[in-house]
Amino acid sequence: MVTLNHKNNDEKSFGPEDEKDKKKVKAVALLSGGLDSSLAVRMMLDQGVDVEAIAIKTPFCDFDCGKGCGHKVKEVATELGIRLQTVYFGDEYLKMLKNPKYGYGSGMNPCIDCRGMMYNAAKKHMEKINADFIVTGEVLGQRPMSQNHRSFDIIENETNTQGKILRPLSAKHLPITEIEKEGLVNRKNLKNIKGRSRKIQLSLANKYEIIDPPNAAGGCLLTDPMFSKRVKDLYKHEKNVPTINDIELLKIGRHFRLNADCKLIVGRNESENFMVDSLYENSDWILYAKDYAGPVGLLRGENIETDEKLITISAKIILRYADVPKDKESVVKIKTKNFEYEISTVPFKDQEISSFRI
Ligand code: SF4
Repeated sequence: MVTLNHKNNDEKSFGPEDEKDKKKVKAVALLSGGLDSSLAVRMMLDQGVDVEAIAIKTPFCDFDCGKGCGHKVKEVATELGIRLQTVYFGDEYLKMLKNPKYGYGSGMNPCIDCRGMMYNAAKKHMEKINADFIVTGEVLGQRPMSQNHRSFDIIENETNTQGKILRPLSAKHLPITEIEKEGLVNRKNLKNIKGRSRKIQLSLANKYEIIDPPNAAGGCLLTDPMFSKRVKDLYKHEKNVPTINDIELLKIGRHFRLNADCKLIVGRNESENFMVDSLYENSDWILYAKDYAGPVGLLRGENIETDEKLITISAKIILRYADVPKDKESVVKIKTKNFEYEISTVPFKDQEISSFRI
């Protein structure tokens, strides 16, 4: 740890007098690719801190979705000239989502538990590279669930990172950290941003000549009301923890809950039909209209083979979205791993479908 010779926090400058003895201050940044975390890193680089970043990918927030907070994170790290390590939370994230200790936000977003996992990953990297602290782009009052005094305290206590987290954008609204007390960074040059306005961040972006600063990210897919409905339905009916494959299916198609054990996913276009097909697992059933263009359906669940009614309902839903005559019977092809057959039925009308729609 670096020891510095300052009288008080507002007058601190860097370094022991003998520069040869000076160990460079090192931090691990939680980089999302959004504007706030980029600015936090730039502020640290300005203070001479050596920064390495980690970016977190979850099944609900990846770097390529074009809307999540991870958008362009690799390019951002390159622009910042810092090393980046990506960390993927897979099954352990899905397990946490079943019963997050601190609950959900307005959707199925377990922001406090999620941030806890992120802090833990950053802490692990901090210890690995012998860094002094963790830096984040969090702004007090910007996000209702995870960016307030109470949540900051909870997350630090849960991850045992008290005093090790620096939030440069809001630092002056927060208690002085060990990091500042020890003079690893100069509090005078930290900011006092609060709330949802991005005015100060945009002027900082201008100062740092960030061209085309990214729009504010609205959170991951779990904050989306429609998507959350699907996630909630899945977790309610799945006896075990859902799989990554289950989650990938939630991202495409129309979803229908047929009974407590079974649901149907119907592709909305050619590319979704292809994806439905590619997510097929051995116990799934595939359905499509035999002689007409239309969707591919995937039936997933238990005891499907013993419930003829389930197959008929699924076939009727498939025909509703296929280019078939609306009041005549058409053939639906049904395939499983072990056998295939056909049934003829008429399509459902819209009002008959609505009770199944998730
Ligand atoms: S919005 Fe919440 S749950 Fe989603 S990635 Fe951000 S902190 Fe995690």
